[in-house]
Amino acid sequence: GNAILSPTLRVERLATTRSRACAQSAEFAAAHPDLDVRVAEVIGDCDALADLVLERYAEALGGDIRMNCDTCAYRVLMPGFADKVGRPQRPHDHPDDPVGHHHHDHGHDHHDHGHGSVAVVGGGPGPDDLITVRAKALLDAADVVVVDRLAPQGLLAGLRPDVLVVDAAKVPRGPSMAQEAINEALVSHARAGRRVVRLKGGDPYVFGRGHEEVQVCVAAGVPVTVVPGVSSALAAPALAGVPVTHRGVAHDVTVVSGHLPPGHPDSLVDWAALARARGTVVLLMAVDTIAKIAAVLIEHGRAPETPVLAVQDAGLPDQRSVPARLDEIGAVAAREGVGPPAVFVLGPVVALTTTGPTG
Ligand code: SAH
Repeated sequence: GNAILSPTLRVERLATTRSRACAQSAEFAAAHPDLDVRVAEVIGDCDALADLVLERYAEALGGDIRMNCDTCAYRVLMPGFADKVGRPQRPHDHPDDPVGHHHHDHGHDHHDHGHGSVAVVGGGPGPDDLITVRAKALLDAADVVVVDRLAPQGLLAGLRPDVLVVDAAKVPRGPSMAQEAINEALVSHARAGRRVVRLKGGDPYVFGRGHEEVQVCVAAGVPVTVVPGVSSALAAPALAGVPVTHRGVAHDVTVVSGHLPPGHPDSLVDWAALARARGTVVLLMAVDTIAKIAAVLIEHGRAPETPVLAVQDAGLPDQRSVPARLDEIGAVAAREGVGPPAVFVLGPVVALTTTGPTG
């Protein structure tokens, strides 16, 4: 086996391998004087190789150890094997093996669904480099990427050309069916043996419907994992110079959906309690409701002069901040044309806003 080698040993091993290749080539050339035989230089460090290692790493994380020879029918299209391309495998499981061939595997029919999987992945708030290393590795190894509008779009340019990118916003069928159509796409691609990455903005479990998709996969018997992401709820304030907590200033932070206005029959938010609390409130999806929310918070006891900061397009080239007092934020945001995606952060921490490293 290949144990981990010290750098010196590795260089020696490389030199030995190379001199053996040279010797064998020279021998072959001597026996075939009619052929032009050449030995190429050592490739050395190379981006493509680094990408390949990352891809294998992600596969290993998913328990998928495909045959890795360059010409393997299951990685590269070969005549007659079109149906097997991209099909992941497990140890001792080869698509051509007769079922039950490996006795220690009996009871698991690896031939059923071809080992597809779904990773529900947080892409961070927008820029390409606020995604986690794990999410990026899974993305690099994906066969299918189902992507949301707020997910980092720049990452799509780096996908292999053969990756199927599904725009979740454009999944066919009417808007009310959209989520069901997405669920169905995730399950069916995974059942066809593909590695599916469901790429979402921010964190998949913060107002991202990520868990609904996980539940659907679990119910369908499709292997599914979740990869947490950097949520805009915390990142947008930080990128705008606002700490959501600060020693001696705020010991709590509440992340709230502003999607339903206060008083809406389906609302689950206790606005009066948020008004009484002292700490930080971060509102998502609140561009259309901010005036009503501010009024209700003041009505239940938040000081009208509480500082608020609207942060739009956090992390992106167009990022901007709009400050106002709580009693004025509705009017100011409207006048300044604050539009989605934006978060509103309010509370005493907003008074600490710096133009900091990113401002
Ligand atoms: N799961 C996401 C949130 C999805 S809800 C996350 O964890 O970030 C969508 C809301 O997120 C938007 O209405 C907006 O309030 C916020 N949002 C997402 N990306 C943002 C960004 N780059 N800048 C500001 N707000 C953002």
